[in-house]
Amino acid sequence: MCDLPIPVRVHSALVVAAVLLGWACLVPVTVQGQDGPSAETALVIHGGAGSLSADEMSDDREEAYRTALRAALREGNAVLQDGGSALDAVQAAITTMETDTLFNAARGAVLTSEGTVELDAAIMDGATRNAGALTGVKTVRHPIRLARSIMEDSYHVMFAQDGAEAFAKQQGLELVENDYFITEARRSGQGQAPADPPEAPGPDEKYGTVGAVALDAGGNLAAGTSTGGISDKEFGRVGDSPIIGAGTYAHNASCAVSATGQGEFFIRGVAAHSVASRMRFGGLPVGTAAQRTIDEIEELGGVGGVIALDREGNIATPFSTGGMFRAYVDPDGSTTVRIFDTGAAK
Ligand code: ASP
Repeated sequence: MCDLPIPVRVHSALVVAAVLLGWACLVPVTVQGQDGPSAETALVIHGGAGSLSADEMSDDREEAYRTALRAALREGNAVLQDGGSALDAVQAAITTMETDTLFNAARGAVLTSEGTVELDAAIMDGATRNAGALTGVKTVRHPIRLARSIMEDSYHVMFAQDGAEAFAKQQGLELVENDYFITEARRSGQGQAPADPPEAPGPDEKYGTVGAVALDAGGNLAAGTSTGGISDKEFGRVGDSPIIGAGTYAHNASCAVSATGQGEFFIRGVAAHSVASRMRFGGLPVGTAAQRTIDEIEELGGVGGVIALDREGNIATPFSTGGMFRAYVDPDGSTTVRIFDTGAAK
Protein backbone atom coordinates (compact mmCIF):
# COMPACT_ATOMS: atom_id res chain seq x y z
CA MET A 1 0.00 0.00 0.00
CA CYS A 2 1.07 3.53 -0.65
CA ASP A 3 1.55 5.34 2.65
CA LEU A 4 1.91 8.89 1.33
CA PRO A 5 -0.49 11.52 2.78
CA ILE A 6 -3.69 11.87 0.70
CA PRO A 7 -2.97 15.37 -0.73
CA VAL A 8 0.46 14.14 -1.91
CA ARG A 9 -1.13 11.00 -3.46
CA VAL A 10 -3.71 13.09 -5.29
CA HIS A 11 -1.03 15.46 -6.49
CA SER A 12 1.16 12.56 -7.69
CA ALA A 13 -1.76 11.02 -9.54
CA LEU A 14 -2.45 14.34 -11.26
CA VAL A 15 1.20 14.70 -12.27
CA VAL A 16 1.22 11.14 -13.70
CA ALA A 17 -2.04 11.82 -15.59
CA ALA A 18 -0.66 15.08 -16.97
CA VAL A 19 2.57 13.38 -18.10
CA LEU A 20 0.61 10.57 -19.78
CA LEU A 21 -1.70 13.07 -21.48
CA GLY A 22 1.24 15.13 -22.70
CA TRP A 23 2.97 12.00 -23.95
CA ALA A 24 -0.16 10.89 -25.78
CA CYS A 25 -0.37 14.27 -27.52
CA LEU A 26 3.24 14.00 -28.69
CA VAL A 27 3.10 10.44 -30.00
CA PRO A 28 2.75 10.55 -33.79
CA VAL A 29 -0.55 9.15 -34.99
CA THR A 30 -0.13 5.85 -36.82
CA VAL A 31 -3.48 4.88 -38.17
CA GLN A 32 -3.65 1.23 -39.11
CA GLY A 33 -6.53 -0.30 -40.99
CA GLN A 34 -7.56 -2.38 -38.03
CA ASP A 35 -8.24 0.83 -36.05
CA GLY A 36 -11.29 1.52 -38.14
CA PRO A 37 -12.05 -1.14 -40.72
CA SER A 38 -14.34 -0.14 -43.51
CA ALA A 39 -16.20 -2.54 -45.76
CA GLU A 40 -16.30 0.11 -48.46
CA THR A 41 -13.71 0.39 -51.19
CA ALA A 42 -12.93 3.09 -53.72
CA LEU A 43 -10.47 3.61 -56.56
CA VAL A 44 -9.58 6.81 -58.42
CA ILE A 45 -7.19 6.99 -61.38
CA HIS A 46 -5.83 9.71 -63.65
CA GLY A 47 -4.13 9.65 -67.02
CA GLY A 48 -2.71 13.16 -66.88
CA ALA A 49 -3.97 16.72 -67.13
CA GLY A 50 -3.36 19.28 -69.83
CA SER A 51 -4.72 21.77 -72.31
CA LEU A 52 -7.45 19.39 -73.41
CA SER A 53 -10.49 20.66 -75.22
CA ALA A 54 -13.55 18.72 -76.30
CA ASP A 55 -13.61 20.68 -79.58
CA GLU A 56 -10.09 19.70 -80.53
CA MET A 57 -10.24 16.03 -79.56
CA SER A 58 -11.75 13.67 -82.13
CA ASP A 59 -14.55 11.38 -80.98
CA ASP A 60 -12.37 8.35 -81.70
CA ARG A 61 -9.52 9.63 -79.61
CA GLU A 62 -11.82 10.56 -76.77
CA GLU A 63 -13.37 7.10 -76.88
CA ALA A 64 -9.91 5.50 -76.90
CA TYR A 65 -9.01 7.38 -73.70
CA ARG A 66 -12.31 6.49 -72.05
CA THR A 67 -11.81 2.81 -72.94
CA ALA A 68 -8.25 2.86 -71.60
CA LEU A 69 -9.33 4.51 -68.34
CA ARG A 70 -12.16 1.99 -67.91
CA ALA A 71 -9.73 -0.91 -68.48
CA ALA A 72 -7.33 0.35 -65.82
CA LEU A 73 -10.17 1.01 -63.41
CA ARG A 74 -11.50 -2.51 -63.98
CA GLU A 75 -8.11 -4.10 -63.25
CA GLY A 76 -7.64 -2.11 -60.04
CA ASN A 77 -11.20 -2.51 -58.86
CA ALA A 78 -11.12 -6.30 -59.40
CA VAL A 79 -8.33 -6.43 -56.84
CA LEU A 80 -10.40 -4.48 -54.30
CA GLN A 81 -13.51 -6.57 -54.94
CA ASP A 82 -11.48 -9.73 -54.30
CA GLY A 83 -10.52 -8.33 -50.90
CA GLY A 84 -7.07 -7.27 -52.11
CA SER A 85 -5.08 -4.37 -50.69
CA ALA A 86 -5.16 -0.73 -51.77
CA LEU A 87 -1.49 -1.11 -52.73
CA ASP A 88 -2.24 -4.04 -55.04
CA ALA A 89 -5.16 -2.13 -56.59
CA VAL A 90 -3.00 0.94 -57.24
CA GLN A 91 -0.29 -1.24 -58.75
CA ALA A 92 -2.74 -3.14 -60.97
CA ALA A 93 -4.36 0.04 -62.32
CA ILE A 94 -1.03 1.73 -63.00
CA THR A 95 0.52 -1.36 -64.59
CA THR A 96 -2.38 -1.40 -67.05
CA MET A 97 -1.86 2.27 -67.97
CA GLU A 98 1.91 1.77 -68.24
CA THR A 99 1.21 -0.76 -70.99
CA ASP A 100 -1.10 1.56 -72.93
CA THR A 101 0.75 3.86 -75.33
CA LEU A 102 -1.92 6.55 -74.97
CA PHE A 103 -0.37 7.56 -71.67
CA ASN A 104 2.93 9.16 -70.78
CA ALA A 105 4.11 6.31 -68.59
CA ALA A 106 6.47 3.46 -69.52
CA ARG A 107 5.53 2.49 -73.12
CA GLY A 108 4.44 5.69 -74.88
CA ALA A 109 6.32 8.01 -72.52
CA VAL A 110 7.57 11.39 -73.73
CA LEU A 111 11.18 11.81 -74.81
CA THR A 112 13.98 13.76 -73.21
CA SER A 113 15.90 16.47 -75.07
CA GLU A 114 18.25 13.64 -76.08
CA GLY A 115 15.48 11.53 -77.63
CA THR A 116 15.50 8.87 -74.91
CA VAL A 117 12.92 7.84 -72.32
CA GLU A 118 13.63 8.33 -68.60
CA LEU A 119 10.95 7.08 -66.25
CA ASP A 120 9.91 8.12 -62.74
CA ALA A 121 7.48 6.35 -60.39
CA ALA A 122 6.45 6.09 -56.75
CA ILE A 123 4.09 4.11 -54.55
CA MET A 124 3.07 4.72 -50.92
CA ASP A 125 1.21 2.71 -48.28
CA GLY A 126 -1.12 4.89 -46.20
CA ALA A 127 -1.17 2.45 -43.27
CA THR A 128 2.56 2.44 -42.61
CA ARG A 129 3.78 5.37 -44.69
CA ASN A 130 6.27 3.00 -46.28
CA ALA A 131 7.17 4.21 -49.74
CA GLY A 132 9.22 3.24 -52.78
CA ALA A 133 10.32 5.53 -55.61
CA LEU A 134 12.69 5.70 -58.55
CA THR A 135 13.85 8.24 -61.07
CA GLY A 136 15.63 8.26 -64.41
CA VAL A 137 15.06 4.59 -65.21
CA LYS A 138 15.56 3.54 -68.85
CA THR A 139 15.05 -0.22 -68.99
CA VAL A 140 12.45 -1.30 -66.42
CA ARG A 141 9.28 -2.35 -68.20
CA HIS A 142 6.98 -1.54 -65.28
CA PRO A 143 8.40 1.24 -63.11
CA ILE A 144 5.48 0.95 -60.64
CA ARG A 145 6.53 -2.65 -59.90
CA LEU A 146 10.05 -1.45 -59.23
CA ALA A 147 8.68 1.23 -56.87
CA ARG A 148 6.79 -1.49 -54.98
CA SER A 149 9.88 -3.67 -54.83
CA ILE A 150 12.02 -0.79 -53.55
CA MET A 151 9.40 -0.24 -50.84
CA GLU A 152 9.17 -3.90 -49.83
CA ASP A 153 12.53 -5.44 -50.65
CA SER A 154 14.97 -2.70 -49.69
CA TYR A 155 15.67 -0.56 -46.69
CA HIS A 156 15.64 2.54 -48.90
CA VAL A 157 12.85 4.75 -50.23
CA MET A 158 14.29 6.03 -53.50
CA PHE A 159 16.75 4.82 -56.13
CA ALA A 160 18.03 6.80 -59.13
CA GLN A 161 19.22 5.85 -62.62
CA ASP A 162 21.90 3.10 -62.67
CA GLY A 163 21.30 2.17 -59.04
CA ALA A 164 17.59 1.75 -59.73
CA GLU A 165 18.31 -0.39 -62.81
CA ALA A 166 20.76 -2.56 -60.86
CA PHE A 167 18.21 -3.07 -58.07
CA ALA A 168 15.53 -3.98 -60.62
CA LYS A 169 17.86 -6.57 -62.17
CA GLN A 170 18.73 -7.99 -58.78
CA GLN A 171 15.01 -8.34 -57.99
CA GLY A 172 14.37 -10.14 -61.28
CA LEU A 173 12.05 -7.48 -62.71
CA GLU A 174 11.45 -7.45 -66.45
CA LEU A 175 13.96 -5.30 -68.34
CA VAL A 176 13.64 -4.02 -71.92
CA GLU A 177 15.63 -1.88 -74.35
CA ASN A 178 14.91 1.85 -74.14
CA ASP A 179 13.49 1.65 -77.68
CA TYR A 180 10.61 -0.46 -76.35
CA PHE A 181 9.19 2.65 -74.67
CA ILE A 182 9.48 4.91 -77.74
CA THR A 183 6.42 4.99 -79.94
CA GLU A 184 6.27 6.36 -83.47
CA ALA A 185 3.91 9.10 -82.29
CA ARG A 186 6.42 10.31 -79.73
CA ARG A 187 9.34 10.00 -82.14
CA SER A 188 7.68 12.04 -84.85
CA GLY A 189 5.86 14.54 -82.69
CA GLN A 190 8.13 15.13 -79.78
CA GLY A 191 11.55 14.55 -78.37
CA GLN A 192 13.55 16.20 -81.13
CA ALA A 193 16.47 17.79 -79.39
CA PRO A 194 15.60 21.49 -79.44
CA ALA A 195 18.09 23.90 -80.91
CA ASP A 196 17.92 26.00 -77.76
CA PRO A 197 17.56 24.76 -74.20
CA PRO A 198 13.93 23.74 -73.62
CA GLU A 199 11.74 26.41 -72.21
CA ALA A 200 9.46 25.85 -69.27
CA PRO A 201 6.39 24.00 -70.55
CA GLY A 202 3.49 26.34 -71.10
CA PRO A 203 -0.19 25.88 -70.46
CA ASP A 204 -0.50 24.15 -73.86
CA GLU A 205 1.39 21.18 -72.58
CA LYS A 206 -0.33 17.85 -71.99
CA TYR A 207 0.78 15.91 -68.97
CA GLY A 208 -0.06 12.27 -69.62
CA THR A 209 1.31 10.95 -66.36
CA VAL A 210 -0.75 8.18 -64.75
CA GLY A 211 -1.72 7.77 -61.11
CA ALA A 212 -4.04 5.90 -58.80
CA VAL A 213 -5.33 6.18 -55.24
CA ALA A 214 -7.29 3.42 -53.52
CA LEU A 215 -9.18 2.58 -50.33
CA ASP A 216 -9.42 -1.13 -49.48
CA ALA A 217 -11.94 -3.02 -47.37
CA GLY A 218 -9.54 -2.93 -44.43
CA GLY A 219 -9.75 0.86 -44.42
CA ASN A 220 -6.24 1.38 -45.78
CA LEU A 221 -5.25 3.98 -48.37
CA ALA A 222 -2.49 3.82 -50.99
CA ALA A 223 -1.23 6.07 -53.79
CA GLY A 224 0.98 5.61 -56.83
CA THR A 225 2.19 7.63 -59.82
CA SER A 226 4.20 6.71 -62.95
CA THR A 227 5.47 9.02 -65.70
CA GLY A 228 7.92 9.82 -68.44
CA GLY A 229 8.01 13.38 -67.09
CA ILE A 230 7.51 16.43 -69.27
CA SER A 231 8.29 16.60 -73.00
CA ASP A 232 11.77 17.69 -74.02
CA LYS A 233 12.90 17.63 -70.43
CA GLU A 234 16.65 17.83 -69.97
CA PHE A 235 18.13 14.39 -69.37
CA GLY A 236 18.48 13.78 -65.64
CA ARG A 237 15.55 16.05 -64.83
CA VAL A 238 13.43 14.77 -61.93
CA GLY A 239 9.74 15.68 -61.70
CA ASP A 240 7.28 15.62 -58.84
CA SER A 241 5.84 12.13 -59.47
CA PRO A 242 8.55 10.10 -57.70
CA ILE A 243 9.03 12.62 -54.90
CA ILE A 244 7.08 11.53 -51.84
CA GLY A 245 4.95 14.45 -50.71
CA ALA A 246 5.17 16.31 -54.03
CA GLY A 247 3.49 14.09 -56.65
CA THR A 248 2.58 11.09 -54.50
CA TYR A 249 1.48 10.70 -50.88
CA ALA A 250 -0.70 8.44 -48.73
CA HIS A 251 -1.48 8.42 -45.01
CA ASN A 252 -4.45 6.77 -43.37
CA ALA A 253 -4.73 9.79 -41.06
CA SER A 254 -5.76 11.99 -43.99
CA CYS A 255 -5.83 10.87 -47.63
CA ALA A 256 -4.06 9.37 -50.64
CA VAL A 257 -2.97 11.72 -53.45
CA SER A 258 -1.45 11.47 -56.94
CA ALA A 259 -0.65 14.59 -58.96
CA THR A 260 -0.16 15.52 -62.60
CA GLY A 261 1.00 18.76 -64.17
CA GLN A 262 4.06 21.00 -64.16
CA GLY A 263 6.16 19.00 -61.77
CA GLU A 264 8.51 21.82 -60.88
CA PHE A 265 5.62 23.70 -59.26
CA PHE A 266 4.25 20.61 -57.55
CA ILE A 267 7.67 20.02 -56.00
CA ARG A 268 7.95 23.64 -54.82
CA GLY A 269 4.40 23.52 -53.43
CA VAL A 270 4.92 20.03 -51.90
CA ALA A 271 1.49 19.50 -53.38
CA ALA A 272 0.45 15.97 -52.38
CA HIS A 273 1.51 16.45 -48.77
CA SER A 274 -0.21 19.86 -48.72
CA VAL A 275 -3.53 18.18 -49.42
CA ALA A 276 -2.91 15.77 -46.53
CA SER A 277 -1.75 18.56 -44.19
CA ARG A 278 -4.75 20.74 -44.96
CA MET A 279 -6.91 17.82 -43.84
CA ARG A 280 -4.88 16.60 -40.90
CA PHE A 281 -3.85 19.87 -39.33
CA GLY A 282 -6.37 22.27 -40.88
CA GLY A 283 -9.40 20.03 -40.48
CA LEU A 284 -10.53 20.57 -44.08
CA PRO A 285 -12.52 17.96 -46.02
CA VAL A 286 -10.62 16.30 -48.87
CA GLY A 287 -12.40 18.28 -51.63
CA THR A 288 -11.51 21.68 -50.14
CA ALA A 289 -7.99 20.58 -49.24
CA ALA A 290 -7.33 19.37 -52.79
CA GLN A 291 -8.87 22.45 -54.45
CA ARG A 292 -6.88 24.86 -52.26
CA THR A 293 -3.68 23.02 -53.10
CA ILE A 294 -4.34 23.37 -56.83
CA ASP A 295 -5.15 27.08 -56.25
CA GLU A 296 -1.83 27.49 -54.46
CA ILE A 297 0.06 25.77 -57.30
CA GLU A 298 -1.62 28.22 -59.68
CA GLU A 299 -0.53 31.14 -57.51
CA LEU A 300 3.02 29.84 -57.85
CA GLY A 301 2.53 29.91 -61.64
CA GLY A 302 1.93 26.19 -62.31
CA VAL A 303 -0.97 24.19 -63.71
CA GLY A 304 -2.15 20.64 -63.22
CA GLY A 305 -4.41 18.53 -61.07
CA VAL A 306 -4.62 15.95 -58.31
CA ILE A 307 -6.74 12.97 -57.48
CA ALA A 308 -7.37 12.55 -53.75
CA LEU A 309 -9.30 10.05 -51.65
CA ASP A 310 -9.99 9.87 -47.91
CA ARG A 311 -10.80 6.91 -45.64
CA GLU A 312 -14.53 7.53 -45.94
CA GLY A 313 -14.29 7.14 -49.69
CA ASN A 314 -14.71 10.86 -50.45
CA ILE A 315 -13.16 11.67 -53.82
CA ALA A 316 -11.66 14.91 -55.15
CA THR A 317 -10.25 15.52 -58.63
CA PRO A 318 -9.59 19.27 -59.02
CA PHE A 319 -7.44 20.60 -61.86
CA SER A 320 -6.53 23.97 -63.34
CA THR A 321 -5.99 22.79 -66.92
CA GLY A 322 -8.58 22.39 -69.68
CA GLY A 323 -9.05 18.78 -68.69
CA MET A 324 -7.74 15.81 -66.77
CA PHE A 325 -8.21 12.19 -67.78
CA ARG A 326 -9.79 10.66 -64.70
CA ALA A 327 -12.06 7.85 -63.61
CA TYR A 328 -13.28 6.41 -60.35
CA VAL A 329 -15.35 3.75 -58.68
CA ASP A 330 -17.29 5.20 -55.73
CA PRO A 331 -17.79 3.29 -52.47
CA ASP A 332 -21.34 2.63 -53.72
CA GLY A 333 -19.87 0.83 -56.75
CA SER A 334 -20.78 3.34 -59.45
CA THR A 335 -18.20 4.14 -62.11
CA THR A 336 -17.47 7.59 -63.56
CA VAL A 337 -15.11 8.47 -66.43
CA ARG A 338 -14.40 12.13 -67.19
CA ILE A 339 -11.98 14.15 -69.30
CA PHE A 340 -13.12 17.76 -69.54
CA ASP A 341 -15.84 19.25 -67.31
CA THR A 342 -15.21 21.43 -64.34
CA GLY A 343 -12.05 21.47 -62.28
CA ALA A 344 -14.08 21.52 -59.09
CA ALA A 345 -14.01 18.61 -56.68
CA LYS A 346 -15.38 15.49 -58.41
N1 ASP B 1 4.05 15.90 -63.26
C1 ASP B 1 4.82 15.23 -64.26
C2 ASP B 1 6.23 15.76 -64.22
O1 ASP B 1 6.41 16.94 -64.03
C3 ASP B 1 4.28 15.41 -65.64
C4 ASP B 1 2.86 15.00 -65.81
O2 ASP B 1 2.05 15.12 -64.90
O3 ASP B 1 2.52 14.54 -66.92
O4 ASP B 1 7.14 14.99 -64.41
